[in-house]
Order: sequence, then C-alpha cells, then structure tokens
Amino acid sequence: MPNSELINRDLSVLWHPCTQMKDHEWLPLVPIRKGEGVWLQDFDGNRYIDAISSWWVNLFGHANPRINHAIKQQLEELEHVILAGFSHRPVVELSERLVELTPPPLNRCFYSDNGSAAVEVALKMSYHYWRNQGQPGKTRFITLSQSYHGETLGTLGVGDVALYKDTYRPLLMEAITVESPDCFMRESGESWEDHSRRKFGLMEAALERHAEETAAVIVEPLVQCATGMRMYHPVYLELLREACERYGVHLIADEIAVGFGRTGTFFACEQAGITPDFLLLSKGLTGGYLPLAVTMTTDKVYQAFYDDYETLRAFLHSHSYTGNPLACRAALATLDIFRQDGVMKRNQRLARHMGRAVAHLEDHPHVGEVRQTGMIIAMEMVRDKASRTPFPWQERRGLRVYQHALGREALMRPLGNVVYFMPPYVITEAQISHLATVATEGIDLATR
Ligand SMILES: *Cc1c(COP(=O)(O)O)cnc(C)c1O
Repeated sequence: MPNSELINRDLSVLWHPCTQMKDHEWLPLVPIRKGEGVWLQDFDGNRYIDAISSWWVNLFGHANPRINHAIKQQLEELEHVILAGFSHRPVVELSERLVELTPPPLNRCFYSDNGSAAVEVALKMSYHYWRNQGQPGKTRFITLSQSYHGETLGTLGVGDVALYKDTYRPLLMEAITVESPDCFMRESGESWEDHSRRKFGLMEAALERHAEETAAVIVEPLVQCATGMRMYHPVYLELLREACERYGVHLIADEIAVGFGRTGTFFACEQAGITPDFLLLSKGLTGGYLPLAVTMTTDKVYQAFYDDYETLRAFLHSHSYTGNPLACRAALATLDIFRQDGVMKRNQRLARHMGRAVAHLEDHPHVGEVRQTGMIIAMEMVRDKASRTPFPWQERRGLRVYQHALGREALMRPLGNVVYFMPPYVITEAQISHLATVATEGIDLATR
C-alpha cells in the first residue's frame, strides 16, 4: 500500500489535532508504517529522524524492545481495572518509584491520562485545599505570559497562547498573567540570571497585590516549550518558591514537557533546588508509549482532604482510565532504562554535541538566538537580527523548514519561527549532526 491510499482514506474520515485541515489540499499527510529507534518509516519507504520525539513524548526510541516486552508481559496479566476501591501492582510500584525520585514532601500520586487533566487536577486540588482550610476566597491563579498548560477549558484559562486561546476567551476563567522571564528579551549585556531576577520583581508585585484571592502560581520550570522554547534561569524558581511560601500561595510546577531528563537534570526543579506543592508529569512518563499523567503533591495537601465522609472534604475527581496498568508498566520500564543505562550522563555528552552542531547559526543573519537547556535546543528565525523583529506569522516560515526537513529524512516541526530539536535520548551524535545540517539548509531557504 502506498502513502497515497492511506492518506485518501484518512482525509475522508479524520479530523487531525492542531491542524487547519484545508492545508492538506497541498501539504501531504505523512502516514507512518513503522517506527524503530529514532526512525519513522512511511508506506513509500521514506524515513525520518524523529527530531521532536513525536510531540516531546518519546525518550528511548520507537518500538523500544525493553518497553515492548514490559507491556506484553503486563497484557497477559491485567489490561485495566477501576482504580476506585481497587488497586494493582504497576500503579503501586510506579507511585513508590516516583515518590523515591522526588524530594521528601512530594509523596502522594494522583493519576489521570493526559497532561491537561493533570493540570486540571492540580488547579482543583489547590483551590479545594484552601477551601477545606477555611479560605474559600482563594479562587484565582497566577500564570506567566507565553505559558502553555494544555487545551481544555480550564487549562486554556491558565495558559497564554493567543492562537489557541483568543477564540474561546468568553468561556475561560481569568488568570492573573505576569510577564515571562523569557531570556530572549534580556537587555544586551545582561546575563540570564540578572534578567530572570529582574523579571521576578513583577511576580513579587502580583503576589503582593493578589495573594489573598490566589490559590496557586503555575509555571513551566526553566523552559516554556509550546510558545517557542522560551528559557529562563533557575534563580527565578528559587525566588518564586520563597515568595509563594511567604504569601501563602501554592506553587504548581508543570514538568509535563521538561521532566524526565529533558533539561539536563531529572526534574527541572532540581536546578533551583526547590520542591513545588504540586508536580505534574506526563509526556515522557511512559517513554512516549501510552497516555498517563500524574499530579504529585505533599502530605500537607493530602491531609487537608482526609476526614470522615460526611464532612464532604474528599477530592471526588476521576477519569475512566486512571492509573491504567499497561501505561504504568510502560512507565516502570522507562524508569528502569534510566536506572540501568546511565542516561543522564550520556545526555550531557549529546547536549554538548547539539550545542556545537548548531553553534554556527549564531552568526546567521536571520537567526536571533540559539538557546539551549539540556536536551532542548532552539534557533529563532527573525526578520531583523539587531532588533529581534520577528517574521510575520502569516508567512509561515517554520512550515518551509518542516517541508525541507521531510525531504531530508527529518521530522522537525518548528513552533512558528522557532526551529528546535528535542530528540529521543537514543539519538547518536552523527544523527544530531545530520539534523544540524538539515536545519541550517531549512533556515537558509526559509529566510531568503
Ligand atoms: C503538552 C503539555 C501539556 C498538556 O498535555 P496533554 O497531554 O497534551 O494534554 C501541559 N503542560 C505542558 C507544559 C505541556 O507541554
């Protein structure tokens, strides 16, 4: 069967995510037949390096033999069971492992099946905690500009991506938005640390003004991925942790994209030496295999709900597939690979290589910045380098890079004008070098 056959069948019955379907009149869909390691293969025999880990979920390659094996074994025992009133081995083992991997106060795991749901759970829990503590007036959330926390109505409310949000604004709760510490916007000569510290002044002011009505501050630690891999210094998180404590406001760390080694440490919060009140994980949690998410929190929060049934203080939130055993088993296999393979150390070497491989783009007349945090590297295309003036979004220059890369054995999916690599950790240095060549060609073509 050639690509074209599946494409035609697909386009007559599917509605794809994050897509203007009319684009597919001229932009071919890519049907994938098989995955192996970093490679994806289509039905016409073309192959592509998955430079974006299939939307940031894949850690150890497609069809990883060890994760495959674990899921097959689990399948023979138990595919799924209700998690209310019942339990099973994979979910207990995974929870023990996650509690062990996180700082001591985080010792409760609440499961759901996608990142947005994990965010919703944290928002509801935080508000509900304060209500149970006799502070029902804490109904608002503070978020950063350029943040992304998912696309359900609740999570759009605490996000700040105009493209996804504006249409639905009448339906959304209104968050308090504080300007992002995004270091692309730093003054010339200013360090990341100084910029992040300076920007924290705005957060301090918002907390001072709104603490009484605020349940929590929600942030993506170190990298705001969806809005173009916007990065900032860990000092911001340090200051934020201290301020949240001082003002009596929860800190929600959304590590859905940056957890599991992406930023160079296992969790991004480690670089600031902080512990949030809520830690959200998904995406890489199952190595990119199955939908699973967890909202981790502290005993202090847990205890505020623990009471006699009649007090109606319980957290009565649920999803049908909460804590699915197959997904938990995939997550355990993923954690085993981290434990057995010295992944974090190898990633340090790969990250250095990524940095070297695209360093020449710093001098490109239409690259405003090359920025990197661990295993995430981004190159921002700009119309004018000195003033960092962006290309108008209507020109869709990133799409040209995407199209060029497909013809050169690479899946890249720029975020607007931002080309980036966020590859599976099993990528080789040679494959990274190839991606760098393709990105350079693509940026040359797209900025002509
Ligand atoms: C992807 C993402 C989410 C949403 O996760 P989904 O599983 O796509 O709902 C939330 N927060 C961050 C930081 C993300 O990157």
